[in-house]
Amino acid sequence: MRVLLPLGLDLAYDYRPPPEIALQPGDVVEVPLGTKRRVGVVWDGESGAPPADPDKLRTVHEKLPLPPLPATTRRFIDWVARYTMAPLGSVLRMGIATPALFQPSRPAIAYALTGAEPERMTGARQRVMDLLRDGPPRSLSDIAEAAAVSDGVIRGLAEQGVLEAIESDPDAGFLEPPPDPETPGPVLSQAQADAAAQLKAHIDGGYATLVLEGVTGSGKTEVYFEAIAEALRSDPEAQVLVLLPEIALTQAVLDRFEARFGARPMSWHSDLTGRARRAAWLGAASGAARVVVGARSALFLPFRSLALVVVDEEHDPAYKQEEQVIYHARDMAVVRASLMKCPIVLVSATPSLETMVNCWTGKYHRVHLPVRHGGATLPEITAIDMRREDTQRGRWISPRLEADLRANVEAGEQSLLFLNRRGYAPAAICKACGTRVMRDNCSAPLVVHRFGNRLQCHHCDFSMPMPKVCAKCGAEGMIVAYGPGVERLAEEVEAMFPEARVAIMASDTVRTAREAQAFIDRIEKHQLDIVIGTQLVTKGHHFPMLTLVGIVDADLGLSGGDLRAGERTYQQLWQVAGRAGRAERPGRVLVQTYMPEHPVMQALISGDGPGFYRNEAAEREAAGWPPYGRLAALILSGPNEADVVAHARALASRAPRGADFTVLGPAPAPYVRLRGRFRHRFLVRARRNIDIQGLIRAWLGQVPEKSSVRVAVDIDPYSFL
Ligand SMILES: [Zn+2]
Ligand SMILES: [Zn+2]
Repeated sequence: MRVLLPLGLDLAYDYRPPPEIALQPGDVVEVPLGTKRRVGVVWDGESGAPPADPDKLRTVHEKLPLPPLPATTRRFIDWVARYTMAPLGSVLRMGIATPALFQPSRPAIAYALTGAEPERMTGARQRVMDLLRDGPPRSLSDIAEAAAVSDGVIRGLAEQGVLEAIESDPDAGFLEPPPDPETPGPVLSQAQADAAAQLKAHIDGGYATLVLEGVTGSGKTEVYFEAIAEALRSDPEAQVLVLLPEIALTQAVLDRFEARFGARPMSWHSDLTGRARRAAWLGAASGAARVVVGARSALFLPFRSLALVVVDEEHDPAYKQEEQVIYHARDMAVVRASLMKCPIVLVSATPSLETMVNCWTGKYHRVHLPVRHGGATLPEITAIDMRREDTQRGRWISPRLEADLRANVEAGEQSLLFLNRRGYAPAAICKACGTRVMRDNCSAPLVVHRFGNRLQCHHCDFSMPMPKVCAKCGAEGMIVAYGPGVERLAEEVEAMFPEARVAIMASDTVRTAREAQAFIDRIEKHQLDIVIGTQLVTKGHHFPMLTLVGIVDADLGLSGGDLRAGERTYQQLWQVAGRAGRAERPGRVLVQTYMPEHPVMQALISGDGPGFYRNEAAEREAAGWPPYGRLAALILSGPNEADVVAHARALASRAPRGADFTVLGPAPAPYVRLRGRFRHRFLVRARRNIDIQGLIRAWLGQVPEKSSVRVAVDIDPYSFL
């Protein structure tokens, strides 16, 4: 019998089943490995391991009291491992990546009223009793917080017999009542109703990929909610998975879901406690979690019977996981749906080119929502040619943008300034010798943060105070912040508009779903006049009073020059533009650029998205880039650069050659050093019909592995750093 362990190994090991327990594939078991006990899963899929000598087999210790990993989840794990070339055990780890899963929670204690009165009533005691009189039993910490009393007050009441302690099922607290598809939903527009009908027609019809495309503000969420309602109605056991790219979006979607279905879905993301993760895992396995809304790793939950998968903001780069198992969650979600034989809906205002091409060829079905909901019009987009603007040195807001901001602030409306750069400045340089400060494990400039006080690496956790002396030339007092980040922009805005209420929304000021929601509430309640944000503000929210969007540096995303730079910039800027004027008030967007003639800027100004996609596609096709060709990267890394280079040379000498593919490299990665490791890269380009994984597997098999050099394979790479 084979047991797959959630370790970085490709093999399932042979074990002897315990005599008294019948084990089935998918069962979660504990087995001996060396001197340790390890959790693994009885595996029936492919495994490269030769059968072990029966006499040397060790015996499975025990079966854990957990539901088995369903066959559909096991085959999905096999599929992801084969496609991404990640070790099978590493992929399994994502499927059971919850240490709390194996530690049944202790029963929780909750307190309820007995009906007895306390010997003496105090204000604190009264608050506790009022709280519990009106609601269900609550835990000690919960009561202490809600009634603003000390733990001693609650314990005292329990000793007097006023409160009784009740044991409750610790996992039960996480399970919400099931969502009710019959809760009356909002009234849909004709366009929304038509789109919803098209999605609903696919429920229960087997696998299909549908693309729900509609401009920001067209009401896509309400449309896919109707498909969810239909899936829930279709079968009392049906489950639905909704993937979101960003934790900051979660709260808003959960709230809207609750308003539509009368209950919250199960959520799944990195912020959850161990117990909440355990509850979500068990809920997915038992079917009790009818709807799960989560980040990309929710794909690996052991769903019992998925009836629908939704990938919201499908074009979002955050769906690509760049560490450990390198995979694209949107693409793997399509595989998940096809293995579960259920439909999947990819949702976006600006679909990825990959998805667009699949629509053109008829592989995916496109469902289009043409208009903004409620009659709101699309914003007017105008370029500001920065070559002609007389912008003051050390400032990033042109006179033209400043004038519009001023008019907007004076009119009492809200404005958004978009700059996709965290911190105060992207680099610190020495004015004497021109060197960028780079003093850590990574070959990337340190970013200036906290209004010029600190330098921080965005690739590892290194940080230091802003140095007074240049390490290179020894000059004193010459190190200055170079270029703009959102903090510096905030400084500029505050100096321009001392009366305005200004705040920054970036991943280091808004870290959790709760903080994001609190920030969004401040915008909605009009407690802010000017919001300065990174890509975090580009997504999904409704701000009725926001009527002006200023894109501070529209060219920023184009400078990297990788194959998706144009596409990504277009998507991002179009999403930001969509924040303006979503309700009755029309919006305006000002785009500061040094290249207004660039196709991305032209597409934005003219609103000709379809034309932009056609041109992008034609260029990619002519060059054989994805999605018209296949691409994979090999990233070699290690603590010793000579070893990495030697291994790269050894691989280069065995590089496969053929008419239908090319191996480029090795070359030092743009970030040649990252978190203390030296990095060199290969890129493999192939025609679409080439089995690129097979090619790479055969190639790597010819060169002995080197323990000091890690070779990571990135199939369909999105990052070229
Ligand atoms: Zn210097
Ligand atoms: Zn670093």
